[in-house]
Amino acid sequence: MQDHHDQLDPAQASNLDRRRFLQLTGGVSAAIGLALLPGESARAAPRGGYPFTLGVASGDPAPDGFVLWTRLAPDPMDHTGGLPSKDFAVDWQVATDEAMTNVVRSGTALAPDALAHSVHVEVAGLDPRHEYFYRFRAGGELSPVGRTMTTPPPGAPLDELRFAFASCQKWDDGYYSAYRRMADEDLDLVIHLGDYIYEYGIGTTGGFRNVPIGEQFASETINLTRYRLQHALYRTDPDLQEAHRLFPWVVTWDDHEVENDYSGTDAEGPPYGNRFLKRRAAAYQAYYEHLPLRQSAMPSGMGMLLYRSITYGDLAEFSVLDTRQYRSGPPCGRGEQPRCPAALDPATTMTGPDQERWLLDELDGSTARWNVIAQQVMMGQLDHRIYYEGNEVFWQDAWDGFPAARARILQHVASRGIENPVVITGDWHSTFVNDLKIDFDDPDSATVATEFVGTSISSNGDGIVYGPYYGPMIPDNPHIKFFDGDRRGYVRCRVTPEQWETDLRMVSTVSRSDAPVETFASFVVENGVPGAQQV
Ligand code: FE
Ligand code: CA
Repeated sequence: MQDHHDQLDPAQASNLDRRRFLQLTGGVSAAIGLALLPGESARAAPRGGYPFTLGVASGDPAPDGFVLWTRLAPDPMDHTGGLPSKDFAVDWQVATDEAMTNVVRSGTALAPDALAHSVHVEVAGLDPRHEYFYRFRAGGELSPVGRTMTTPPPGAPLDELRFAFASCQKWDDGYYSAYRRMADEDLDLVIHLGDYIYEYGIGTTGGFRNVPIGEQFASETINLTRYRLQHALYRTDPDLQEAHRLFPWVVTWDDHEVENDYSGTDAEGPPYGNRFLKRRAAAYQAYYEHLPLRQSAMPSGMGMLLYRSITYGDLAEFSVLDTRQYRSGPPCGRGEQPRCPAALDPATTMTGPDQERWLLDELDGSTARWNVIAQQVMMGQLDHRIYYEGNEVFWQDAWDGFPAARARILQHVASRGIENPVVITGDWHSTFVNDLKIDFDDPDSATVATEFVGTSISSNGDGIVYGPYYGPMIPDNPHIKFFDGDRRGYVRCRVTPEQWETDLRMVSTVSRSDAPVETFASFVVENGVPGAQQV
């Protein structure tokens, strides 16, 4: 790559960027209490080596722009990232060509110490449905050139959308061969549905990766320093970096970004109460710091606003949910339990009332052909009765623990005639393809939506783990059209006005990063006909 940073006009950059810069730093000051002098550190250079060790990323594409992300960390395995406790300025450029010769936007953004020297640039004013390239400069070093794209304007005709979705990438369970193969795909978008990190400590031999890492990763993530270290470790992976570099991502979290199976303010294990809320806030902040999220998601108080929608012309609208932060405590207890009366209490919620109202309004207001609900845990019912002498028992952490909340959404989808609703899901480290019904216990109940549950990128590794346990349950659950519990990979989707196509892309192993991928099974959903058909 040529060094074209001499094309950065400092005067123009500071003019153009002034508003942006003040907006950004205003937001930072309000949320984190940073005292900043805009421009004060404008050319301060990070010392001690190449600062872009965690790569670059883009996300939350809109018709006129996107978020650009990086984090300065010359020493990512150190809790400081290798930088002193001060703010740095980072130059950025957006061009229409990969050689970065035709720069159309540029500026200087802040890498605040209070946000672990992460950079979030919200670029606007670009052309819709257009490919762009970007890079950063700090300390005389240039980042890799990233590639991204804007979306078509809402309502504009779009004949095809290609995207992949992924979840559950436990670093110490294996390599990211799935991301290496995803990087070979021709995609408009990647959607991450949670378990981007896991909170567990990692031994000094790096788990199944069997590579030496420092003792600083041995403890469970409890505080901000430790969550940052975990994100940095994950993000040093070159295959994950490459998938971020090549495609815009839309991300949402599940439980392990904080703690296994937490439910709103209700922790699974200690610490509980206020100490859990502090832990959760630290986890949320580290998540924000390491992903290409807009300023609207900046942590505020003890929370962080993550639910939002992304629209691709007249073809697809994605409603991206947060089913963790506002969830009721588990109404019938944790793990596998029979249903109890509290699960049917109208006050029991997965999304919180505000997000639920927002979702139903989004669906009502959408004019898109396909209406995608991108979320964490399985919506389709999975009755475990085969192991409980014919009595209904459900996994309580999924929507099965919150059946009234699920029924409210599916009833709305059905009664309002929402066009082509498709739910995409992570969490289970397994693949399920489900017909979603208002009453799963009634085989004659109409199918009102389609669900694809994608397997994990690496979590559970190469072992035969879930097939033997969940496989025998499937005959008791005839709305489940497909199940696989033992493969790793991602899900590729191609969407046109007439048809939705899903390919399960499975890697042969996560014991090395260069494993091959194959399409294990394929499905289509025809326009106007809920429910997937295997092809
Ligand atoms: Fe997971
Ligand atoms: Ca999970």
